[in-house]
Amino acid sequence: MLVEGLPAQVKLIAVSKYQPQEALLQVYATGQRRFGESHAQELVEKYQALPKDIEWHFIGHLQTNKVKMIAPFVAMIQSVDTPHLLAEIDKQAARCERVIPCLLQVHVAREETKFGFAPEELLQWFLNKEDDPVKRFAHIRFCGIMCMASNVDDETRIRADFRLAHSILERIQQERPELTDFKECSMGMSGDWQLAVEEHSTMVRIGSAIFGVRG
Ligand SMILES: *Cc1c(COP(=O)(O)O)cnc(C)c1O
Repeated sequence: MLVEGLPAQVKLIAVSKYQPQEALLQVYATGQRRFGESHAQELVEKYQALPKDIEWHFIGHLQTNKVKMIAPFVAMIQSVDTPHLLAEIDKQAARCERVIPCLLQVHVAREETKFGFAPEELLQWFLNKEDDPVKRFAHIRFCGIMCMASNVDDETRIRADFRLAHSILERIQQERPELTDFKECSMGMSGDWQLAVEEHSTMVRIGSAIFGVRG
């Protein structure tokens, strides 16, 4: 078991950014197939070199000009943080004749530097009936939301961030019950995944606790 105590129904993304290919292969050998990367170039190199049954999740800030590099093979883009980026993913997915599963990144942390939609901004844009993103972007599968909690020690704060993120997922599910794929709540990293799971995470993204910290 890669992450001791992780409930079986919570999907594990092994975050392999900056890790050499041998390290991924060691984890692959244990049966792990979902890996997360945060740089497009690094992801393309690993995709080309490593086994083809790996499910690659993109979790970092994605520049629009890099979407076409990963569109042919990426399993899920978890870090959609603007309508503009979504439009580009839709366009590149159409060119590849595929539908790309995506998560909407919501900014719930206190830090100003983190990417993502502000909660109210996300709800207003996504639930807009006049210009429905689900209708507009036919090559996107909307699968849920992703967030990063505040980078602090205060458990109460972290839990509040996760609760806010999960409440946004629930709100969208209530307003759009027909979106049956909209069910993932990707939250929790090495330092806070237990709290995230208590707050209804369906997918955790764990790097250093699996691979160790790279010096
Ligand atoms: C690096 C990263 C992780 C994993 O962080 P660890 O603390 O190493 O587990 C998770 N999510 C995102 C978005 C990341 O960039």
